Amino acid sequence: MSGQDRYPLLEISIGKFVHNATEILSRCAAQGISVAGVVKGYAAFPELASALSRCGASQLASSRIRHLAELRRAGLPGPYMLLRIPMISELRDVVDLADYSLQSDLATLRALQDECLAQNKKHKVILMADLGDLREGFWHADELVRACVEVEEELSMVELAGVGTNLGCYGAIQPTPEKMHALLGIARRVEAAIGRKLEIVSGGATSSYTLVHWNTMPEGINHLRIGEGISLAYDLPVDWGIEDMDYLHQDVYTLKAQVIEVREKPSYPQGTFCIDAFGGKPVFTDRGIRKRALVAVGRADVADIHRLMPRAAGIEVLGGSSDHTILDVENYPGELRAGDIVEFDLNYTTQLFLMLSPDVIKRLVA
Ligand SMILES: *Cc1c(COP(=O)(O)O)cnc(C)c1O
Repeated sequence: MSGQDRYPLLEISIGKFVHNATEILSRCAAQGISVAGVVKGYAAFPELASALSRCGASQLASSRIRHLAELRRAGLPGPYMLLRIPMISELRDVVDLADYSLQSDLATLRALQDECLAQNKKHKVILMADLGDLREGFWHADELVRACVEVEEELSMVELAGVGTNLGCYGAIQPTPEKMHALLGIARRVEAAIGRKLEIVSGGATSSYTLVHWNTMPEGINHLRIGEGISLAYDLPVDWGIEDMDYLHQDVYTLKAQVIEVREKPSYPQGTFCIDAFGGKPVFTDRGIRKRALVAVGRADVADIHRLMPRAAGIEVLGGSSDHTILDVENYPGELRAGDIVEFDLNYTTQLFLMLSPDVIKRLVA
């Protein structure tokens, strides 16, 4: 342990991140698919975003317009894509800061035209089809085709770049070749109605990348929007057969937390039960006296401490509070004491919150 380091420390391996980006983007490119690099999972950390650009991402994308503003300020060239359907109240920033946006509402599209006229600036849109995951998007294909025709023929400053879909988010619906064929069918209908080819048919996020991995992505899907797959390569459900994506690093991030207490204590609280710090009524199993370690990182930093994954065998997350995580270390073969460092792997939620916590130090490593 170096005496100078401060904790909690989040180390980000730029080399592993670039490796993952290169592996994913090259496999997509080989199948004619360009990739929007999605930066929202790591608060648009500029070094990671700029690595995505260097690796050949066709756009830098986020759900938050603020991220796009920050990356522009950092001098990254874009082009930029807004992923969340915009609020009408943010259209001024959308036209100013984003080159592309995803859209699913005609009133918003008409207001976008007005804003484009006001700024004398064109803006590209991708209209979203909901293929069953039940978050954003037109539900009826006819309605989506009509909206595309209106954009094409009546909204002079809004350019119809293409159509897209999103799966595996709210409804946990798996992207399949059939779903991709449904999107392609919609794209071909739009093309027939407007009399030209679309620039983008965007088949989804990391979950849709699985089809590229398995070589089952139908030809014609030419765009994906990928965040998590590059930065974590985690959370891809193992029952989809993802354990064989062994060309990706799952340890781009290492959370290092410092031990502040190690003690043997009972596993069952003593006294009269009321409620915990969050108003909950936790349930405990009596496992007798166990050795535990407290580390100085908590729900204020990671929201869901149960999603932290201790890297060493024999360490288990028991729970915690705003500022503490309590670990069961009874089966850890080493000897832990105050001052020692415990390492964790991250998933999507813990990545999201740790990157935002001002108390977590971020450090790029090779
Ligand atoms: C977040 C998001 C993505 C990227 O999702 P990952 O799972 O991180 O790849 C793609 N598209 C939309 C619309 C999103 O909101």
